[in-house]
Amino acid sequence: MGHLIRLTLALLAAAAALAADPKPIRVLVGTGGHTHNASFYTWLSQRKDLEIEVDGHPSLFRRDFRKTTDVLVLYDLADVVEETRRENLRAFVESGGGVVLLHHSIADNQQWAWWSEEVVGGKYLLEPERGLPKSVFQHDVEFTVRPVAEHPVTRGIEPFRILDECYKGMWISPKAKVLLETEDPHNDRPIAWIGPHTNARVVYIQLGHGTEAHTHPAWRKLVDNAIYWAARREQ
Ligand SMILES: [Zn+2]
Repeated sequence: MGHLIRLTLALLAAAAALAADPKPIRVLVGTGGHTHNASFYTWLSQRKDLEIEVDGHPSLFRRDFRKTTDVLVLYDLADVVEETRRENLRAFVESGGGVVLLHHSIADNQQWAWWSEEVVGGKYLLEPERGLPKSVFQHDVEFTVRPVAEHPVTRGIEPFRILDECYKGMWISPKAKVLLETEDPHNDRPIAWIGPHTNARVVYIQLGHGTEAHTHPAWRKLVDNAIYWAARREQ
């Protein structure tokens, strides 16, 4: 009997430890192709809930990362052109991985329609296409952002002001589920959305150019919410 009680207590303690300390979310941060302030990394440091790996182009996607990554966070601006690297990225997405796209990563893969149309649901146009002119940007605009949908990514987010870079004239898919909007004339109205892919969990958050965004509590909360949702671990 004593053994049984001890075993039960041990099991209870193990269960409590599991509940208190779930396995960290394995995050692969992809960078390269665009300069960025070191403040981008401040939200990643000292995290016990995330196990973070940073990789940059051109080594990013050289290996099959399905078994080592729960969420891919992209803060890059590059085209993946080699077939092996495309296959690895495609395999991760098709297998239901999480993808959180930040800021200038909306201009990734200009020549890969599958990426912008089926995964991201949007594209910053570096060249005119689809009868649309090139997209434009404007730095250092202070504007108001409002959540427009009930979603785990916008949970706890109230309307907020932020000093950040505006993008205008992006192609945005009618299949994108818009989460945040702004009425500022320097920007397109949608400023964050859920991508259309049906297996993967994909979020795009336009905000995040510089230190003002990287240290903004609403930006940090949005990115955290997006990572947890993409990892299927809604808080
Ligand atoms: Zn920028």
